Amino acid sequence: MPEQDPKQRVKNFDEVPLGYSLDTAIAEAKRCLECKPQKGRKICVDGCPVGIDIPAFVKQIKEGNIEGAIHIIKKKNNLPAICGRVCPYEDQCEKMCVMGVKFEPVAIGRLERFAADYERERGLNVPEKPVSKDGRVAVVGSGPAGLTAAADLARMGYKVTIFEALHEAGGVLMYGIPEFRLPKKIVRAEVDYVRSLGVDIKTDIVIGKTITIDDLLEEFDAVFIGTGAGLPNWMNIPGENLSGVYSANEFLTRINLMRAYNFPEYDTPIRVGKKVATIGGGNVAMDCARTALRMGAEESYILYRRTEKEMPARIEEIEHAKEEGVIFKLLVAPTRYIGDEKGWVRQVECVRMELGEPDASGRRRPIPVKGSEFTMDVDTVIVAIGQSPNPLVPKATPGLQTTEEGTIIVNEEGLTLKEGVFAGGDITSGAATVILAMGAGKKAAAAIDRYIFTKKCG
Ligand SMILES: Cc1cc2nc3c(=O)[nH]c(=O)nc-3n(C[C@H](O)[C@H](O)[C@H](O)COP(=O)(O)OP(=O)(O)OC[C@H]3O[C@@H](n4cnc5c(N)ncnc54)[C@H](O)[C@@H]3O)c2cc1C
Repeated sequence: MPEQDPKQRVKNFDEVPLGYSLDTAIAEAKRCLECKPQKGRKICVDGCPVGIDIPAFVKQIKEGNIEGAIHIIKKKNNLPAICGRVCPYEDQCEKMCVMGVKFEPVAIGRLERFAADYERERGLNVPEKPVSKDGRVAVVGSGPAGLTAAADLARMGYKVTIFEALHEAGGVLMYGIPEFRLPKKIVRAEVDYVRSLGVDIKTDIVIGKTITIDDLLEEFDAVFIGTGAGLPNWMNIPGENLSGVYSANEFLTRINLMRAYNFPEYDTPIRVGKKVATIGGGNVAMDCARTALRMGAEESYILYRRTEKEMPARIEEIEHAKEEGVIFKLLVAPTRYIGDEKGWVRQVECVRMELGEPDASGRRRPIPVKGSEFTMDVDTVIVAIGQSPNPLVPKATPGLQTTEEGTIIVNEEGLTLKEGVFAGGDITSGAATVILAMGAGKKAAAAIDRYIFTKKCG
């Protein structure tokens, strides 16, 4: 897929991949072998957490019927332009693609993106509303889990209200993933699509503060909690409280949601220095390091305690970061941050690491090399070492139970230990992916439908 030139794109926040044309999409779709189902199952569909009928939609593109393709995709996925951009396809549907055994797998994700963009650019096609069902559902949080649960329930005929703490809906899609990977106009268009199904979205309402889950249960037949993993993890090393040390969440929220990149139109307080060190090796770390360059950093470093092979970030994100000039310092871990007399970070002290035996994650455990400490001059540090579940709702809701990691305990269907309360996404799994959050929202929507039916009729 054509992309913006790295030298150019590092100076702007425009999207990096430019998308397929109709001809290139059809040519790519023609690579699909239309494999016969094995024991009634289509293997690429088994790799999709929301179960899109991939061979059927790819066939429609092959035949030039893009509307037909999007119709098939939307039976299962209400956020296709988002998934077509950020899903880790290489580990899901594309990993199962038979073409991938000898050649490149069919670019299923890019084809999904193409079909969704084609439809959006020509005006949205809202599915017919079913007969309305008797029942009201409250959804807490408007990330991919909440949006999916809400959309599925609205399509079943329920009256659904989403309550969102922030001023704009979309969750991490809106406040976390940068514009150059996921343009916000696309998130808004897909959130508007969910609204067009009849879902009411109320923003600026923090559930667990003025309104509790128990209050919601008085007004609604069921509640779905999709409050995500928005609590930043810290290393708890000296100097983390210095000015100029950000959590990835704060850094990206200021830039994405509060549009710090649109200065002076948006005058968001943010200071991005000349030498920026991002700690971590996941997608979030890549997003921070690339964002720092776009915000004017002269040197943007990734400090990661293992090697590139163990990095959890998608290969494409690592490649994009390298092309843009991000400098990777591998097998190093920060031990403290050193500030000036005014309390601003000026240096990071690191220790070199070597890899030992595999740990519980299956990756080789990093071990500090004694006496290998060194310092680097920095004026900004971004800590991107993961997020934990948002604790507010679980803490404010009697009857909900959580694991030691803070995730809400649910059964297979997303039902919590509190009657009528379901949950899914990062708040139950811990920080994961958009499509897994959507899969959990879908499963819970089906369970809520059964729960309300039983409550009302049986
Ligand atoms: C920077 C970054 C980059 C990422 N990149 C990718 C990627 O490329 N691909 C991928 O698949 N995944 C990626 N992820 C992970 C993915 O975004 C998450 O797994 C996914 O968004 C989880 O969805 P969710 O609906 O569970 O929660 P979220 O998206 O976190 O949404 C939760 C929502 O609930 C709201 N909320 C929280 N508490 C309350 C409350 N008390 N009352 C009301 N509302 C509340 C929050 O404001 C938020 O809007 C990334 C994550 C980050 C942070």
